[in-house]
Amino acid sequence: MKKTISLFFILIFLLTAAACTSGQRTARQAFAFDTVINITTDEKDSFSINQAFEKCRSYEKIFSRTDSESELYAINQGSVTQLSADMQTVMKFSLEFSRLTDGAFDVTVAPLVELWNINGRTVPPSEKEIKEALSPVGYEKIQFEPFSAGGAAIDLGAVAKGYIADRLTEYFSQSGITNVIVDLGGNVAVLGEYTVGIRNPFNPGQVFATIKLKDKSAVTSGAYQRYFEYQGKRYHHIIDPRTGKCAESGIASVTVISPSSMHADALSTAIYVSGTDALTLCSNFPDTDALIITVDGEVITTENFEKKYDLRIE
Ligand code: AMP
Ligand code: MG
Repeated sequence: MKKTISLFFILIFLLTAAACTSGQRTARQAFAFDTVINITTDEKDSFSINQAFEKCRSYEKIFSRTDSESELYAINQGSVTQLSADMQTVMKFSLEFSRLTDGAFDVTVAPLVELWNINGRTVPPSEKEIKEALSPVGYEKIQFEPFSAGGAAIDLGAVAKGYIADRLTEYFSQSGITNVIVDLGGNVAVLGEYTVGIRNPFNPGQVFATIKLKDKSAVTSGAYQRYFEYQGKRYHHIIDPRTGKCAESGIASVTVISPSSMHADALSTAIYVSGTDALTLCSNFPDTDALIITVDGEVITTENFEKKYDLRIE
């Protein structure tokens, strides 16, 4: 077997091509969560899509770490003790998941994310800076009820898009729309059946493989989109909270498929940090599978993946 994720670009390409031939699809694009959002339905319905974009803007006001008007920003300032319902759900899950992964996924990774500032840096931080940023990291510091961040700063970048994708497909479903693709910067969730592409992590302009999804989400984590290179080495946006450095687990990309986009999102990050042995994490969640492409180009999947998702390696 062989490769992993990155459904987005390729996916979008495939979908757009399909839209042209059917003449019935509605596809819209917006920008939120620092990423490009694409929503496509098989119906002539831009009203629902526009409503979904509005919802994205509201969710940004809850989960953004950097927007000074967001709930998460206020939490990180220590000025919130009562969490909104959405925040409660995501925070509770994230804390449990941090525990389950023994801190490979750590919701308090914010100081390291800020230090590494992947989109702004050209040179890695010093060992001293990493050590300093590591000291407030530790999900054990957080108390959920009553809520207290315990001096830690929270980042939900590895899980919030998944939660939002779930809320959007739920909204479409409740609106009677049975065919839709929600793509939040590669965090894909579909209602109905669609073939989507997994990007080639070694050549992100190409599709590595295709899979068939029905009423499921596919989320990929990889080091080929948000990174910088310094002295021949790549530094990327997924941090190992145990070392404070960019995760290096031998994985080029990992794609997780699940009925819950939130589960897929969190799992893809955790598996990327922990390595191929962490594939077993999937068994903690219903009907959840993964495909890893290692840095050597080997493909490792959960059992029956090929058959279940009609995997075709290009
Ligand atoms: P993803 O692209 O879903 O794998 O998530 C990566 C994003 O999650 C980063 O941009 C950070 O905001 C955050 N993050 C990075 N490393 C971790 C980690 N080990 N645990 C939790 N969140 C992380
Ligand atoms: Mg994630």
